[in-house]
Amino acid sequence: AGLLIVLGLLYGAYRMAFVDALSGLRNRRALDEAMDRLSGAYAIAMVDIDHFKSFNDTWGHQTGDQVIRFVASALTKFALPDHLVARYGGEEFAVIMPRTTLKDAGRIADQISGAIEAKRLVRRSTNETIGAVTVSFGAAIYAASESVGQFITRADECLYMSKRNGRNRVTLETQMPPIASSAA
Ligand code: GH3
Ligand code: MG
Ligand code: MG
Repeated sequence: AGLLIVLGLLYGAYRMAFVDALSGLRNRRALDEAMDRLSGAYAIAMVDIDHFKSFNDTWGHQTGDQVIRFVASALTKFALPDHLVARYGGEEFAVIMPRTTLKDAGRIADQISGAIEAKRLVRRSTNETIGAVTVSFGAAIYAASESVGQFITRADECLYMSKRNGRNRVTLETQMPPIASSAA
């Protein structure tokens, strides 16, 4: 029984350190640790809920939390067993996909956003129909020699491109316009 108590305490400590309490996903720290350990080609998909501020303003923070949990469950549902799904910040998520091509990462992202936009959400407290939410994606492949920070920034730039192009879409790094040359 003593051993079980120790294991239970260790498990509790692990969850507090690496698991996000609201969504049940891994947290930012778990993501950073996993990315420091990964090598070789792997994909990252950054995800951000569209117009979430106005959603909160209309329906309230608790219903917003319900949407964060719904998006978390959709990400988990379509992620493969060796993927890592994390809540990166408030309404932002990241999916790490080891040994995955950009094309396959894009296909998974398309599946996830299709499932999210197809779901008609119901506000639990009042049973009101609140329609659907959408998410925007940016996806990139780790390039040897760049830092984890640079990698996330590149994926984030793809995500911003999805926002600029109207949201509810996936932007792969190969779809980004070429960087303007300073010599031009
Ligand atoms: P965009 O489509 O450009 O992403 O617009 P947005 O409104 O989603 O973006 P913005 O960054 O302006 O708003 C994010 C909002 O997410 C603001 C904040 O109130 C809300 N938010 C962040 N964390 C939480 C949370 O844990 N719960 C709830 N309910 N809302 C959160
Ligand atoms: Mg955001
Ligand atoms: Mg947002």
